[in-house]
Formats: sequence, structure tokens, C-alpha cells
Amino acid sequence: MVSIEGLNKHFGSLHVLKDIDLQVAPGEVVVIIGASGSGKSTLIRCVNGLEQFQKGQIEVDGNLLKPDGKAGGALQKIRTEVGMVFQQFNLFPHLSVLDNVTLAPMRVRNASRAEAERTAERLLERVGIADQARKHPAQLSGGQQQRVALARALAMEPRLMLFDEPTSALDPEMIGEVLDAMRELARDGMTMMIVTHEMTFAREVADRVIYIHKGEITEQGTPEQVFDNPRNERTQSFLARVL
Ligand code: ATP
Ligand code: MG
Repeated sequence: MVSIEGLNKHFGSLHVLKDIDLQVAPGEVVVIIGASGSGKSTLIRCVNGLEQFQKGQIEVDGNLLKPDGKAGGALQKIRTEVGMVFQQFNLFPHLSVLDNVTLAPMRVRNASRAEAERTAERLLERVGIADQARKHPAQLSGGQQQRVALARALAMEPRLMLFDEPTSALDPEMIGEVLDAMRELARDGMTMMIVTHEMTFAREVADRVIYIHKGEITEQGTPEQVFDNPRNERTQSFLARVL
């Protein structure tokens, strides 16, 4: 589903991603962990073309991204096929929950309003907030808003979902409901790349855990390998701090 080869990314003189090679298979759940500033967000932002890179290539479901934003029509296709949920929910504040979820399918996929609303209602039901459809984002809790963001992304029928610390802006009591929705998505076979500090969740949901240190993948494996038997001393000291 995703094939990253020799990816290098600089912000000016800062070398943020160094020769990243990473393949994600269809249906696989990959969790990316690492210290602050190690390049986790930058890596997943490269995957849907939110960041350009200088060397290497990224293929997403047959669409190829090349250095310096050279992608042709691939970028457009990737943006419609890849859903993303951020730390900040980024909902449209002036739209109702329902309209937040129907907007992109109607605009980008030319879905009819009736069809988009049917899909939206089904997705809101699935993430447990069907009763909130007529409200505006400001009237919802953080956990509810994040579940709207998830439903909105799913409304585009993505082939791949990217998550960048989707629970780190939430009050502790709301983290569980968002993680539950993500767990269910993983169980349903969605291909997912997730940056998170929720290590219990990572252990449970990940097929593979990737540890990034200063822009390099320095360790990866199953959750058992990485969490219980980290080989790299950097992973060991990182885990000692967060577990
Ligand atoms: P965190 O856990 O704090 O979210 P991260 O692993 O997601 O960290 P990134 O946000 O990918 O880290 O940042 C990697 C490096 O790139 C950091 O040194 C950061 O300061 C730098 N960086 C990120 N975005 C930019 C930008 N737009 N311009 C310049 N430097 C940036
Ligand atoms: Mg980040």
C-alpha cells in the first residue's frame, strides 16, 4: 500500500529524515514512536504530500511522489485516497457535524447530498456520535470532535489512514473513546500509520512498531520485539522514559 524508498527531507540546513525505507502492506497497522523532534510528523506528512522532500520516493497505492513536489496528478489522487487525523481536530467551525462529514464527498467525489448524508450518518453511528449530527464542533467535547474528524476522513473511503497524535490534545477521560474507534477501524482491516504516545494502545493494535531517532529508523519489529526486547539502547532509554 505504501512504499517509501531512500526518503530524505531537509528543512533548510536541518536534515530531518535520513534514508527512510518503509513498506506498509495492505491492512497493516504501523505505529511510529520516537522522541519529540525525531521526525515522526514530518514522515507521515510526506506520505500524503503535505511536505515535500529532497531525495527518494514515496508510492501510495500506485501513485508516485517524487522529490521537490514532482508528482503530477499523483498528489491529487493521494489526497483523495489517504485520510488524515491530526492532534488538532481541524473541523470547520461554521459547519454542523453532518456538514463537516458530507463536504468533501460532495465537493470532491460529486456525491449527492442524500448519498453523502446517508454515508455520514452511518459513519457517525460507527464512531458513536450519531446523536450529535446537528451540532456545531464548538458544542462538542474534544473526544467527540476527534471522532467527527475520524468520520470525516472515513467519508472519503480512504485506502490508507494517517494519524498524528490523535489523542494528545484530549483530556484523559476522552482518550479511550477515540482509541476505541481506531481499534475498530484496525480490526476492520484499514491500513494505518499512527504516530502516538499511547504505548498500551500501540502494543495492542500495531502489527509493527517503528522507532525513529533523529530522522532515522533505528529499530522496528512486532510490539513484543520492540517493547519487550528492544535491541537498540536508544529505544531502551526512550521506552524507559515513556513506559
Ligand atoms: P513531536 O513528537 O514533538 O511531534 P516529531 O517527531 O513529530 O516531534 P517533527 O515535527 O517531524 O518531529 O519535526 C522534526 C524536526 O523538524 C524538528 O527538529 C522540527 O523542529 C523540525 N521542523 C518541523 N517542521 C518544520 C518546519 N516547517 N520548518 C522548519 N523545521 C521544522
Ligand atoms: Mg509530531
